[in-house]
Amino acid sequence: MAGAEDDLRWVFRFSQDGADGHRGLKNELGGKGANLAEMCRIGLPVPPGFTIRASCCQHVASTGGWPDGLDAEVDAALAHVEQAMGLRFGDPESPLLLSVRSGAAVSMPGMMDTVLNLGLNDSVVEGLAEKTDNPRFARDAYRRFIDMFANVVVGVAHERFEEAMEGLKRERGVEEDLQLDAEALADLVDRYKAVYRKETGYMFPEDPKEQLRLSIDAVFASWNSPRAVKYRRINEITGLLGTAVNVQAMVFGNMGDASGTGVCFTRNPSTGERHLYGEFLVNAQGEDVVAGIRTPKNIDQMGRALPTAYDELLEATRRLESHYQDMQDIEFTVQEGKLYLLQTRNGKRTGPAALKIALDMVREGVADRARAVRDLVTPDHLDQLLHPSFDPEQEALTTVGKGLPASPGAAVGQVVFSAEDAEKAAGEGNDVILVRIETSPDDVGGMNAAKGILTARGGMTSHAAVVARGWGKPCVAGCSDIVIDYRTQSFTNGSIKVSAGDWISIDGSTGEVVVGKRSLRSAELSGDFATFMGWTDEFRRLKVRTNADTPEDAKKAVEFGAEGIGLCRTEHMFFESDRVTAVRKMILAETEAERRSHLERLLPMQRRDFAGIFEAMAGRPVTVRLLDPPLHEFLPADPHEHAQVAETLGVSAEELAASVERLREQNPMMGHRGCRLGLTYPEITEMQARALFEAALDVAARGIAVSPEIMVPLVGTAAELANQRACIEKTAEQVFEERKARVEFLIGTMIEVPRAALAAGEIAEHAQFFSFGTNDLTQMTFGFSRDDAGKFLPWYVDNDILPKDPFQSLDETGVGRLVELACREGRDARADLKLGICGEHGGDPASVAFFHRAGLDYVSCSPYRVPIARLAAAQAALRDDP
Ligand code: PEP
Ligand code: MG
Repeated sequence: MAGAEDDLRWVFRFSQDGADGHRGLKNELGGKGANLAEMCRIGLPVPPGFTIRASCCQHVASTGGWPDGLDAEVDAALAHVEQAMGLRFGDPESPLLLSVRSGAAVSMPGMMDTVLNLGLNDSVVEGLAEKTDNPRFARDAYRRFIDMFANVVVGVAHERFEEAMEGLKRERGVEEDLQLDAEALADLVDRYKAVYRKETGYMFPEDPKEQLRLSIDAVFASWNSPRAVKYRRINEITGLLGTAVNVQAMVFGNMGDASGTGVCFTRNPSTGERHLYGEFLVNAQGEDVVAGIRTPKNIDQMGRALPTAYDELLEATRRLESHYQDMQDIEFTVQEGKLYLLQTRNGKRTGPAALKIALDMVREGVADRARAVRDLVTPDHLDQLLHPSFDPEQEALTTVGKGLPASPGAAVGQVVFSAEDAEKAAGEGNDVILVRIETSPDDVGGMNAAKGILTARGGMTSHAAVVARGWGKPCVAGCSDIVIDYRTQSFTNGSIKVSAGDWISIDGSTGEVVVGKRSLRSAELSGDFATFMGWTDEFRRLKVRTNADTPEDAKKAVEFGAEGIGLCRTEHMFFESDRVTAVRKMILAETEAERRSHLERLLPMQRRDFAGIFEAMAGRPVTVRLLDPPLHEFLPADPHEHAQVAETLGVSAEELAASVERLREQNPMMGHRGCRLGLTYPEITEMQARALFEAALDVAARGIAVSPEIMVPLVGTAAELANQRACIEKTAEQVFEERKARVEFLIGTMIEVPRAALAAGEIAEHAQFFSFGTNDLTQMTFGFSRDDAGKFLPWYVDNDILPKDPFQSLDETGVGRLVELACREGRDARADLKLGICGEHGGDPASVAFFHRAGLDYVSCSPYRVPIARLAAAQAALRDDP
């Protein structure tokens, strides 16, 4: 489909006659604008309108004014809408009213602004009353418009208008808005205009053209509102042009009992079940549903209330699903029996729903497997499926309420009642549950910082539910059992009272809320999960291994589909409490002979560890890395511990302190660690290599295949690796000679020092494989200490110095170039060089896509990330070669 770059117009029209845009133009028209155009193209009922492209937003933000030609294009497009509707903007005889909505390429629910009923003034409202024969409706529309316009365009708080409304209701002795008649609403309009004048110092603008222009500007400006900026930062939304503006003829859901408005999903977004799921209200406008002013009805009841429109809706949802090959989230309005679609987009869904929908759509023939793997399940969805739930074995705690299971997963934390408190407490390292009556877009920072979210009000489509599901964050919504009092910072259910700081646990899969800390149980995976993961394997080229140091982790990872171990950090075996004394004695040894005798004691323990891992991996490749950390890490840092440790080691406290001092380093990360240890204490490498080969032979002798790969850490020069390789090969020959048996093995190196990447060609002469240690490679390429960068990296990301934390997602520009260079030069030197990565980036989807493009053979990540890496690898392959 054609891009918008070579299209010079600012404004794209859409109507039943067709559309200038289409769904391929999301970047310029925003998701909403592109899909409105697409719906018109496939003949669905959409009120006519036009979309001002997002690059205009950029232009307005940088110059403060409209680009040349926009005025004229808006006028012409408006004339087109007038013609399509047979109405005229600002004409009391046949008034056309407009909505003005934001809509960026990525959906940002509720973050930007909307103005409805635009075009009303004192004379148009009378015309509308007469034309519709419904003065109440006309005045109601007018007062809503004044409120919204004042709020969005000039920043007057809604509360000022709510106060006026409450005052009027009190005077008239009514409780519900719907009880205010036409005459009362005329009074309300006057009061609203007075509020406007008092708050702004100006009269409410009567000229519809001026109203339109100001509203378009306000929608553009809302792109840079603090909450929108914050939402984009949290969701890592970058690189967009801005928001597009959609101007569309109003249709009215509040014209009486044959009218209504609603939102629906084509399938259940929590479970994935195939039925229309949503809410609607008779005789209401869209914001009534969202704002919770009236309690919406289940969409099933629409069949009775508005039968024809309901049938049309069912038909439209079927068309939209098969057209988009995805579950849709739809907004609609029924005006006097006639259905109009106002929006469609791919619906946000939970992990379990995503999995079910993907499988069902393939079974139903709506989508094929490639589509399902590429687009219908995200790595975050899988992450959610791996979320914990309440442990049923644990004795029950006091239940304080049950709400809607709005976003799955269980969370435990201390109660906070405001977004600010949530951010503050989480920043101090505390786990918190954010408890709100309901959430608003202003709360997103705190929602993100919290472990889970609990609201007393709101349904499955409430703000809290939608945002939490999008993030895979546990959420219980609409828990009406509890009464929240922000003033006393507590909530109650009868005699149970929970105050700020108390611990609660919530389960977003069941809706349960309990007092205290519930223990959690890891996820159980269904047969559907295995089926879907099997599909991902059909498409990926990258293999996925795991980082595991114990047989238990190795087994778990194999269950998740790991095809080998990419990194076994042997120091974790040294750190174990029953071994650390032997390790410490080895470190304190004064002579090589003494050191060797202590290493002798460690040997059987290492052998046992390796044997357990080889068994668990049953012939899959196992990469064992030689000892990496500096030796001082094994000695107690705290002088208070010296006396006691010295006693166990049989040395004096002073001697121990002296050794600690001797081993102390200014920059341990760049000190005596990695292969530098093995070079200066070859007996350590010898012991580890011996343990590995003996274990491999033992396991092989029991008929279990073994595939050991021995890896040298922190190599920077070819000579370092040559030295360690000679040591390993010599030990291997000794062991094979003693045992009169051999095993195949590989020797390779980590590439984690920038010099190693630059000297990859030379290093590859001695290496059968490279495994990129992107943690250290990032540390040393940036010169950011892994242990200290947390002090400033968040600031860097907040202030756009870096797009993302490079320890979480690979920096392609710098670190990535080193990876690419090393791959190229390494393979030039040795064509069959195996290439892998074992830093944390191996479980990050964006980084996995990069490693796919760089031509690596495998990624290695922690066991729970294995399914995520499998999916990310398949998606990378499908996106590369669609
Ligand atoms: C790395 O540096 O990326 C790596 C895997 O090693 P470690 O994290 O143990 O330093
Ligand atoms: Mg490292």
